[in-house]
Amino acid sequence: MAKDLCDNAIEGLKKLISEKGELESVVAAATAAKIKQLTADLEAASVKEVNPVERIKNGFDRFKNEKYEKNPGLFEELARGQSPKFMVFACSDSRVCPSHILDFQPGEAFMVRNIASMVPPFDKTRYSSVGAAIEYAVLHLKVENILVIGHSCCGGIKGLMSIPDDGTTSSDFIEDWVKICSAAKSKVKAEFSNLDFAEQCTKCEKEAVNVSLGNLLTYPYVKEAVLTKQVYVKGGYYNFVTGTFDMWCLDHSISPSLTVGV
Ligand SMILES: [Zn+2]
Repeated sequence: MAKDLCDNAIEGLKKLISEKGELESVVAAATAAKIKQLTADLEAASVKEVNPVERIKNGFDRFKNEKYEKNPGLFEELARGQSPKFMVFACSDSRVCPSHILDFQPGEAFMVRNIASMVPPFDKTRYSSVGAAIEYAVLHLKVENILVIGHSCCGGIKGLMSIPDDGTTSSDFIEDWVKICSAAKSKVKAEFSNLDFAEQCTKCEKEAVNVSLGNLLTYPYVKEAVLTKQVYVKGGYYNFVTGTFDMWCLDHSISPSLTVGV
């Protein structure tokens, strides 16, 4: 995106230079020189943008100067341990980092990010990575809130909605993973058959969050903590097209076995 903007700016400036070149006044020459310099700067910036080592170094320098050095108390405390109030599930999508969109600071949120922000059901063999994170967050960190965030234009959900009805898949991992929320896809296809594919995907982005919230309750310690009100489970939806964030509580219809309200 930034590179596109940069390229467009460079093209615009080059055009301006050629137009200005037809003028013979000293003022025009000076303007053209300035524009040439600006063009060179933009091109240099454009090249610099793709240097990953510089990008990482500069990013850490900014963090260290603007956050780490300015909050010695916070980082001394975090050096002794963490006590986050939130466990957050978010998509791996580069546009939806919870630390940015919800302004979580270091130590505030224990996170799991994966394709389409899905919580798989309790399964020691297939989903040990997510299971370990949930077990640690609930039993050891004793988080008080678990938030699952879906988002607009989710490629993982689009992938789920695109799996043929006969269930055949062609990827090594992706489709098998997103099938975790097949129930959301079925519900959307049944209830919103009148909508076009893009609209169905939007519906599924939210419905998949509900399936994940239900799956959270298949972990016995999560269910126990929810029933005893030690943990609150919430769904969220970040729409980066409209710049909005919606949040809701656990949908009871997804978890009929839940006997105590939350
Ligand atoms: Zn996504």
